[in-house]
Amino acid sequence: MDRFEDTEIKYLKGIGEARAKLLASELQIVSFRDLLEYYPFRYVDRSKFYRIAEFQGEMPLIQVRGHFINFITEGEGRSQRLRGIFTDGERMVDVMWFAGIKKISEIYRTGVVYVLFGKPSIYSGNWQFVHPEIEKYDPERPPTGLQGVYSLTETMRKRGITQRVVQTAMRNLLAHPRFGQLAETLPEAIRSRYGFPGVQETFRALHFPEDATLLRKARERMKFEELFYLELQILRYARKRSRQLQGHMFGHIGDYFNRYYSECIPFELTGAQKRVLREIRADMRTGRQMNRLLQGDVGSGKTMVAFMSMLMSADNGFQSCLMAPTEILAGQHYETISAWGARIGLRTALLTGSTRAKERRLIHEGLLSGEIHIIVGTHALLEEKVEFSNLGLAVIDEQHRFGVAQRARMWSKGKIPPHVLVMTATPIPRTLAMTLYGDLDVSVIDELPPGRKPIETWLRYDGNRGEVNRHIWQQLREGRQIYIVYPLIKENEKLDLRSLEEGLERVRETFSGVEVSFVHGKMKPAEKEYQMQKFVEGKSRIMVATTVIEVGVNVPNATVMVIENAERFGLSQLHQLRGRVGRGADRSWCILMTKERIAAPTRKRLHIMTETTDGFLVSEADLKLRGPGDMEGTQQSGIAFNLRIANLATDGQIVQCARDTAEDVLSGNPVITGQTEVTEHRPSALPLDVDSLRILASELTRRFDHSVDWSLIS
Ligand code: ADP
Ligand code: MG
Repeated sequence: MDRFEDTEIKYLKGIGEARAKLLASELQIVSFRDLLEYYPFRYVDRSKFYRIAEFQGEMPLIQVRGHFINFITEGEGRSQRLRGIFTDGERMVDVMWFAGIKKISEIYRTGVVYVLFGKPSIYSGNWQFVHPEIEKYDPERPPTGLQGVYSLTETMRKRGITQRVVQTAMRNLLAHPRFGQLAETLPEAIRSRYGFPGVQETFRALHFPEDATLLRKARERMKFEELFYLELQILRYARKRSRQLQGHMFGHIGDYFNRYYSECIPFELTGAQKRVLREIRADMRTGRQMNRLLQGDVGSGKTMVAFMSMLMSADNGFQSCLMAPTEILAGQHYETISAWGARIGLRTALLTGSTRAKERRLIHEGLLSGEIHIIVGTHALLEEKVEFSNLGLAVIDEQHRFGVAQRARMWSKGKIPPHVLVMTATPIPRTLAMTLYGDLDVSVIDELPPGRKPIETWLRYDGNRGEVNRHIWQQLREGRQIYIVYPLIKENEKLDLRSLEEGLERVRETFSGVEVSFVHGKMKPAEKEYQMQKFVEGKSRIMVATTVIEVGVNVPNATVMVIENAERFGLSQLHQLRGRVGRGADRSWCILMTKERIAAPTRKRLHIMTETTDGFLVSEADLKLRGPGDMEGTQQSGIAFNLRIANLATDGQIVQCARDTAEDVLSGNPVITGQTEVTEHRPSALPLDVDSLRILASELTRRFDHSVDWSLIS
């Protein structure tokens, strides 16, 4: 007989074949466990009916009882909407629908008593509900406490799977005679550390919470459990790899490094740069492969750190490469690094997609013979034809454009993989970094070189254009350069391109006589390159562009960054854009333009930009507001998170607990890592018995399809 949780849902009372099929195709719910994990996405307080007169500020999800007086269709075509006037017998509230209008007007009638669930909101001074859930009022039904609301698809609704049906099925599942056999998924030692309820109690509270406290505990446990196994898996992987991967031993610091440092370096390193260099040095001399993420805000001086790490590589007789996400960036890095390297006799080359065949052949030869010490380039570096005499260090600039798969390809370039240094200017909050980049060690440059003037950030509306233009003129007269950036979002492409072109027209009119560069992602690379180069060389003074300039270009003479429709950018993206100015010693400005009427939360969000230039604060705020799914870097990170209940954005504290616990488990129970010899003799912070280890192994297998070698514990 199947284990209880593996039983197919068609055997559940209230489901049957047809509904089981539908649930499988709509929500991938197949087994009892899947159904248990189909958590309500919100809860309604069903202990009382609210009166419309009681509505105020921020309200939770509430229910109101009453009837519709009237339905009115308003507007035409795409902006058509349906307004229902609903009353509780005392006052009235508007109920708005913006979609599915025809069907709704067929379902609901005036005069029938309904219960409305939702969050009332205020629009133009009136209370309204937008697309609330509606049920016929059932006087027989006893008042309950919190009631879960499940997300239903349109198809489910059409085929009669309503909230009521799901609730009944769930009730039957929890009352199933074998429910008591549901296997525990979190070891007792861990549960008791945090006072978490057992698995059956947890599911009961999640689906039918008796009160808010029990619900909170149950949700915490499930969030923790989800994150704990994720962290455990990441840490196991990281440890296994760090034990396995042999690396080049860079035993000494020699002439290149010392001579450059004492005679050629153009500035004093910041304390943070020195610290990070020490961390890198320590890594590279262990004989194991370095895998390090170097985080540093825009302008913090990551390039010099990369270059000095390359000197350590050269001192030990090895070559280095630096890979950048775009040709322009690669070109800029090449300019910088070849000039620095030339002073101590290092040869640097540039290899990109547009390198000519003949040049390319020479470079291939130079790399193979070892004549070229440093190669800077784009993805072109990953081609098979590119072979090294002995690659010791690979630096990757701007992590988010390269996934884990590409890193792996870099490693295969030699018998012993090169050390890998990944640089990113996207400041990622700690809890997210350790989850996303759990397989990397992290160094942070948290200090800017001295003498930088902080960038002033203004929030301005269309009505302030006169003021903004005057400011731009004044900077142009002082010989400065200006960026003007427009959003370009895939779904909106046509519209966005139009507004970009209109913007360009306006700029040409307003600043007639000033040379303008124009760049967007749809352009031919050669044209883009030409326009960018013109700006980099100072031949054009204004750059009108979409976010293609977001990553890395360095034009220290640019002092104003105007961002149009700023409300459409995420904070981290705005921060990246802002980092394009303030690269010289001059005062600089970032001007966020929006239309006159923006919603209060949007204004609040943009306001954060005017208050801080600290990338970490910005990204924390961004993460809280938008969630990690939207954040730069998280999608391409190569780790598929499939979180059902936890939220990396808002559950930072739980992530931390999960991480700590996973570390304790691994340090005390090396068997979980699949380690054959026990090298750590620390007393365990969290001793686990054989049963607990079995739970961990079976959960890891189930969640990550990754089997653990159990021969070790029997
Ligand atoms: P990022 O970290 O954004 O890649 P860069 O490496 O491009 O930053 O550095 C930004 C600018 O700061 C460059 O012009 C660089 O030469 C300069 N710089 C780097 N480190 C220092 C320092 N310690 N003192 C002064 N200027 C520095
Ligand atoms: Mg850089």
